[in-house]
Amino acid sequence: MRKRLPFETASFFILINHDSFCTDRRTCRLSKRNGYLYLVYKTVKMTDATDKIKRVEDSEIIITELMIPSYANFGGKVHGGILLSLMDKVAYVCASKFSEMYCVTVAVEGVEFLAPVEVGELVSFKAAVNFVGNTTMIVGIRVESLDVTSGKTAHTNSCYFTMAAKDSNGQLAKVPALLIQNDIQLRRFCEGRAIRDFSKQKRALLKSDLSKYAFHELKSMVSNERCVVEY
Ligand code: GDP
Repeated sequence: MRKRLPFETASFFILINHDSFCTDRRTCRLSKRNGYLYLVYKTVKMTDATDKIKRVEDSEIIITELMIPSYANFGGKVHGGILLSLMDKVAYVCASKFSEMYCVTVAVEGVEFLAPVEVGELVSFKAAVNFVGNTTMIVGIRVESLDVTSGKTAHTNSCYFTMAAKDSNGQLAKVPALLIQNDIQLRRFCEGRAIRDFSKQKRALLKSDLSKYAFHELKSMVSNERCVVEY
C-alpha cells in the first residue's frame, strides 16, 4: 500500500508513530518521489514460535561421558539403567535445544543393549531430532563406546525417545517443523512416523483389558507358553 503525505506530516507521523515503524507484521518505509514523501507499507508474514521451521542440525548434539566405577553392576559392566538415565538426559538436551522449551519424556523405543560397556570406557551419545509431530519430537540416539587404550569402538545401542514440549504454564506446546535436507533425514523422518504409530498401538495394547475373557479362554491363550496354570 502506498500513501502520499506532505513532508511535514510525514515527519510528524514518524515522531509520534515511531513504534509502528518497527511492528512485526507490518513494515513501512519512506520513499521520496516528485517532491512528495510516500509511506510505503508492506505486510510481512510473522514467524512466531509455532510457525518456526528448524534444521536437523539445530538439534544435533554429541555428549561424551566417562564410565566411572560407581556405574558398574555386580558383573563389573556398566549398569543398563545408568546408560538409560544418561540417554534420557541427552534426549532432553536435544529436544529442548530444538524446541527452545522445557520438555518431558513420553516414551522410549528400541532400548536393546547390543554390547556390554566397560568401566573406564568413554561413551558417546549422538542425538538428533528425527521426527516432529505437533507437540512431540522423536529424538534418535546412537550410543558408541570407546576403549581409549586399544582404540576399539563399539556401537552399543540406538534408541528413540518421544519427547513432549511444554510452555511456561505446563501446557503442551507446538514445536517447530523440521527442515529435511537430505536422504538420511528423510528416511529418519519416515521411520520416526512409523515409531509414533507403533507407540500408539503399543499404548493401546498395554491398556487392553482381558478381564472380559472367561477362564478357559485365557487358559487356552497361554496353552503353548512356558507356564503351568494350576487352579
Ligand atoms: P539410524 O536411525 O537408522 O540412522 O540408526 P543409527 O544407529 O545410526 O542412529 C540412531 C540415531 O542417532 C539417528 O536416528 C540419529 O537421530 C542419531 N545419530 C546418528 N548418528 C549421529 C551423528 O553423527 N550425530 C548426531 N548428532 N546424531 C546422530
